[in-house]
Amino acid sequence: MFDALAERLEDAWKKLRGQDKISQSNIQEALKEVRRALLSADVNLQVVKDFVADVETKAQGAEVLSGVRPDQQFIKIVYDELVQVMGETNIPLAQVDTAPTIVLMAGLQGTGKTTATAKLALHLQKQNRTCLLVATDVYRPAAIDQLVTLGQQINVPVFELGADADPVEIARQGVARAKETGVDTVIIDTAGRLQIDQDMMGELARIKQTVQPHETLLVVDSMTGQEAANLTRTFHDQIGITGAILTKLDGDTRGGAALSVRRVSGQPIKFVGVGEKVEALQPFYPDRMASRILGMGDVLTLVEKAQEEIDLADAEKMQEKMLTAKFDFSDFLKQMRLLKNMGSLGGLMKMIPGMGKLSADQLQQGETKLKQSEALINSMTAEERRNPDLLASSPSRRRRIARGAGYTERDVTNLVSEFTKMRNLMQQMSRGQMPGMAGMGGM
Ligand code: GDP
Repeated sequence: MFDALAERLEDAWKKLRGQDKISQSNIQEALKEVRRALLSADVNLQVVKDFVADVETKAQGAEVLSGVRPDQQFIKIVYDELVQVMGETNIPLAQVDTAPTIVLMAGLQGTGKTTATAKLALHLQKQNRTCLLVATDVYRPAAIDQLVTLGQQINVPVFELGADADPVEIARQGVARAKETGVDTVIIDTAGRLQIDQDMMGELARIKQTVQPHETLLVVDSMTGQEAANLTRTFHDQIGITGAILTKLDGDTRGGAALSVRRVSGQPIKFVGVGEKVEALQPFYPDRMASRILGMGDVLTLVEKAQEEIDLADAEKMQEKMLTAKFDFSDFLKQMRLLKNMGSLGGLMKMIPGMGKLSADQLQQGETKLKQSEALINSMTAEERRNPDLLASSPSRRRRIARGAGYTERDVTNLVSEFTKMRNLMQQMSRGQMPGMAGMGGM
């Protein structure tokens, strides 16, 4: 899927390959390709514009890393931005403490709303959550039958009052039934129309008002393309959604909708439909989607490799600084971030002697420390960052920094002392001594 998009992006990388760094001029061609690629994938125009502008800013601001090919650096920037636009992590369905969790399904007719209702119930069942489905689409009697049949198939009860009842009343009674029977989650299927229609919106709004759902999920057909943005905007403005389900991703569909829905509503895509069967529902993972949109089977490997090289280039630079003792607070912060990003310290430890002693526990504490250090260093002036000795001799500077960051003067003192220790360690290392390594048996 998204083959065309993949090819276009491939072209964009090619334009950067062979160049020795990302620059103002060579980036323009690559950005044009990204723009064309996304447009041809039916990503909404405004979304494309914003996306490309963000990528441009990031690419231009990106430090040129020696040893990393510019196309690799660029692919990483585009990939990261895609992941970020689509929400970074998977956000699961809400679950409230006082059951039932109420889920309202919304969307146009034919998007796969009724199917998604059953799929969601099956998914929750597998997590030992019990469900009740509520059929409020009285305009298409077949829709009620369809939900009842699906319910039987997955062994989940369906609440319905036939095709003559008022949808708002069905929803209200359905939720009441869910409370009586103590089910964990009640999922309300609603009527769709072929297009946005004020009657449909009015009814949805009334149902929402009456049952006060914890989740209102917009079901979007991924074939919708450009229109997905307008559709999402209308539903979000008029009803207010908390998330979306993107259906029919198994088909010959383009990637546009995934980008547009998130960007327009700010709400996460929670699931994707990947087939007609009730089992065909998967949690939405922005990183997987990003690599699908980029379209190359091995794009993840590529991105990982780029990341590795970026880390490596960073580490090498850092080591150089350490050895020449030009290490300042900005480097200190960068190094802490790097350690955190690495997850596994393997690669870096090899490069920095003396670092091998960190335990998992210390790494955990490091996370908290990193936040604090970041805040403190951010409230330093550029001069103080470059010249840490200024702080050692000035309590008033330390107080100002502490106040600015919301910490105590003691925290600043500790930071300065840790920094000094690390710098001393480095100076020793640069003189060829290995502090703390004595007696480690030739390691
Ligand atoms: P509703 O009108 O929104 O309730 O849509 P339905 O649930 O009735 O689905 C409309 C059609 O789309 C049916 O034929 C479904 O089998 C099909 N469908 C729903 N979800 C998917 C999906 O994720 N992949 C595929 N290939 N078909 C789907």
